[in-house]
Amino acid sequence: MAQILDGKKVAAMLREELNQQVAALKGKNIQPTLAVLLVGEDAASVAYARFLEKVSGNAGVNFQLHQLPANASELYVKLTIEDLNQDAGVHGILLMMPLPPHINKQRVMEAVSPLKDVDGLHPFNRGHLISGGVCLQPATPMSCLEIVKRSGISLAGKHMVIVGRGETVGKPLVFMALAENATVTVCHTGTKDLAYMTRQADILVSAVGKPGLITAAMVKPGAVVVDAGISEVAGQITGDVDFAGVKEVAAAITPVPGGVGSLTTVLMLKNLIKGIQLQEQARQWEEAEEL
Ligand code: NAP
Repeated sequence: MAQILDGKKVAAMLREELNQQVAALKGKNIQPTLAVLLVGEDAASVAYARFLEKVSGNAGVNFQLHQLPANASELYVKLTIEDLNQDAGVHGILLMMPLPPHINKQRVMEAVSPLKDVDGLHPFNRGHLISGGVCLQPATPMSCLEIVKRSGISLAGKHMVIVGRGETVGKPLVFMALAENATVTVCHTGTKDLAYMTRQADILVSAVGKPGLITAAMVKPGAVVVDAGISEVAGQITGDVDFAGVKEVAAAITPVPGGVGSLTTVLMLKNLIKGIQLQEQARQWEEAEEL
């Protein structure tokens, strides 16, 4: 039977680190502040914003909710973002999705200062992720790696097979895993023999959103299986992996819920802290250039 990689335990470890980072910043009179921008009243976004407010408060992070009406123009949304970019007291900006259909997601996302982009979605951050530079990285692929590494499993030299090449999970994970010296294969709907590919994995990550996609027959005995998928089936949150079957074959497996998803919020808040460091560095460089 596989070892269960406990996301809640790893999240507690990360929270402890976050608390120390926040305390250190407060010691320097910096009050970490997260601004959440919500356009409209999407129920899931409103609920997530409330959850974030609670988690931020617990970590000693200031939380601001900027809620605009659903009919706010794209220009108005961009001007609001620009105000937050210019506000030295705001260190991170989280744009809640989905946006109303009249707003161009890409243009609005690109309006966020890359140094305040706690979601790590800005093309500037994506570019640095690919080229191996210092940047803010998206939380979910980070969670996929942290849950493995912090459970004492190394990535270097391992063959990681990623199922899914979505912009939020699969694709950024490719570059993060390469930076950890894993050998990476990516599968998608065009992959000819998915089961053959997944059976080559030392570490198999599924980031698709199709319940039951990964079965025991698709897993090499002794592999580590990370399930980033999230779907709702009959009111229950479920991953991509047939957990009951795969846990009999794998050496280690993440559950859903209680796996990858447990780490994402704390990692996003750790991005806020990293953003503060990058903002400080940028200020120092600007000052040096002015001399
Ligand atoms: P996405 O953009 O929809 O990407 C899904 C990927 O899966 C696509 O690359 C697609 O291939 C591939 N795919 C679909 N069916 C497939 C199949 N039968 N065989 C192989 N590949 C297949 O999704 P995403 O935004 O990256 O998210 C992926 C999953 O992660 C979703 O379930 C999402 O809910 C979950 N998620 C979890 C968290 C968390 O906190 N745990 C956070 C964000 C997202 P093509 O490119 O060929 O279409």
